[in-house]
Amino acid sequence: MSLFNTTYDVIVVGGGHAGSEAAAASANMGATTLLITMNLQNIAQMSCNPAMGGIAKGQIVREIDALGGYSGVVTDKTAIQFKMLNKSKGPAMWSPRAQSDRMMFAETWRTMLEQTKNVDFYQDSVNGLLFDENKIAGVKTVLGLEIKAKTVIVTAGTFLNGLIHIGEKTFGGGRAGEGSSTGITECLVEKGFESGRMKTGTPPRVDARSLDYSKMEEQPGDEVTEKFSYLDTTKPLTKQRSCYLTHTNQAVHDLLREGFDRSPMFNGRIQSTGPRYCPSIEDKIDRFATKDSHQVFVEPEGWTTAEIYVNGFSTSMPEDIQDKAIRLIPGFENVKFFRYGYAIEYDYFPPTQLKHSLETKIIENLFFAGQINGTTGYEEAAAQGLMAGVNAAHKIQGKEPFILKRNEAYIGVLIDDLITKGTEEPYRMFTSRAEYRTLLRQDNADLRLTPIGHKIGLASEERLLKVEKKKLKTARLIKFLEETSVTKEQINPILERKGLSIINQSLKLYKVAARPQLSLLDFKEIESLAAFFILEEIDNTIIEQVEIHLKYAGYIEKEKANADKLNRLENVIIPQTFNYTKVKSLSYEAREKLTKIQPTTISQASRISGVSPSDISVLLVYMGR
Ligand code: FAD
Repeated sequence: MSLFNTTYDVIVVGGGHAGSEAAAASANMGATTLLITMNLQNIAQMSCNPAMGGIAKGQIVREIDALGGYSGVVTDKTAIQFKMLNKSKGPAMWSPRAQSDRMMFAETWRTMLEQTKNVDFYQDSVNGLLFDENKIAGVKTVLGLEIKAKTVIVTAGTFLNGLIHIGEKTFGGGRAGEGSSTGITECLVEKGFESGRMKTGTPPRVDARSLDYSKMEEQPGDEVTEKFSYLDTTKPLTKQRSCYLTHTNQAVHDLLREGFDRSPMFNGRIQSTGPRYCPSIEDKIDRFATKDSHQVFVEPEGWTTAEIYVNGFSTSMPEDIQDKAIRLIPGFENVKFFRYGYAIEYDYFPPTQLKHSLETKIIENLFFAGQINGTTGYEEAAAQGLMAGVNAAHKIQGKEPFILKRNEAYIGVLIDDLITKGTEEPYRMFTSRAEYRTLLRQDNADLRLTPIGHKIGLASEERLLKVEKKKLKTARLIKFLEETSVTKEQINPILERKGLSIINQSLKLYKVAARPQLSLLDFKEIESLAAFFILEEIDNTIIEQVEIHLKYAGYIEKEKANADKLNRLENVIIPQTFNYTKVKSLSYEAREKLTKIQPTTISQASRISGVSPSDISVLLVYMGR
């Protein structure tokens, strides 16, 4: 069957992180899916840092995996280094991060998509959308094809009218070495969409063979590695590559300052807003003028390549300035460049134009996911892609939208923040954005989400069985600890070794294990516990669950109670026909914002900036509460 004469259930425009997850999700939900992307060699290309995860982002990757998405598996299969960040803090803050082999990452994604039933591929650039009045009908391409579809998911990343800046030079492009995409923005603006401009930047890539590592500090991965996917098909790394740390200095800063008037960010040529939390080196020097040094992480781009990602040195300064400044960093004296750093400006669509399902409010069956919605980061993009893929499939199958609540997932927080509050600068996830972060941990994403993912037909039976086994073993171990007493003779030698106060009488094991300085692994010499571990095949993931339960149950219960309160408001639905302008007891600002955002529940209304508690009381009365 030709692409010309079939109507796909779903067309995904763009094979980046959002598009790849979207295609996988819709296809796995049974929808015939066409992935159209500008270059099939660059599926899920890592445009910037060759790393997945990190603070709050690692939790998102685990959530994607728990729901049945591919990002976690691909990261595990291509990782060259693994670290669990924030291990010294409470478990809500633990965040997995892996460096990946950039080329393997894209190749592995493509292989996994090719092995997914219902996904067709086509390399071309979409330059227009087809409509049937206010409903999407398909796409138009640069090669002149018109391909029909019931739903379309646009995941064009940084490519829409992308403009690359290096010093005084500017040229069109969606990413270094790739053209920009035109037509989509113009077509949507004509239909009444609002668009804006954002910017982001990336550091130079250099040749590892030209660096002097003796002047840098080695940054190895964790001694005991973990992984992202909950599936047994991937394994933790046994061999890793190290990164290295060096620093900028006053001489580097002075040299960069000399070029400020030739930098597009300082001479006013770039007006759009960039990511606050990934600032360029020139931004850092300007904003933190009293700091005479910044960290620079030297990160390998793969197992075998000599290409190095210079993390912390993102810049769009002219090449000659980049060249001279970087040589003043210890270890970089004889550096050879692979690629210069650059900044890119691109179109985005303020995400308040979307529903929770990521379907647009203006055009039915049209979905947006990823950087096009004003986010930054692979993880944020991939999460939106998965949700848009599921929701596009649900839409054509006549099912309810699939929405995750703020107390269920970071993905829920991300989408609710975007569509309720919008964003004026590239949005990245942080643990502080989640009010229920003690519930939304990286260790329990499977417990939270796999049953839901399985129910909608995305997470496999194998995943669900694993979760049920994990729950059962956790409960059994807790029961064992609650029922098993230890004598002071058994326990005191362990406590003394750890420098902790000893006990004077026998105690149940769970009471001692709840002490913050102790791990269950410290009690392995207690025979009954060691025997239980062997008999019940208790592994570290179960031990971790039980320890979190013993040490943090109080906080977890409190957050659950708060979340239940919020969910009561979540259940108060506002009819979409509700006319706020007629409610004169609402403040003027509230009437304006509520009319624009059209919240679906009272809870969502309460999160809109400018809507006060008294406005919410007024609305509650109108809703009969
Ligand atoms: P992308 O990964 O950009 O993928 C979009 C895909 O769509 C591409 O494959 C493209 O070929 C395809 N496409 C686009 N338009 C069309 C069309 N019309 N027809 C067909 N195919 C199309 N993130 C951070 O978190 N921190 C950073 O510091 C950071 N720096 C960055 C620096 C640069 C220079 C760039 C380019 C990106 C940076 N990012 C950074 C962002 C990160 O790359 C993105 O957040 C992430 O890749 C977004 O995923 P996406 O799927 O939305 O889009």
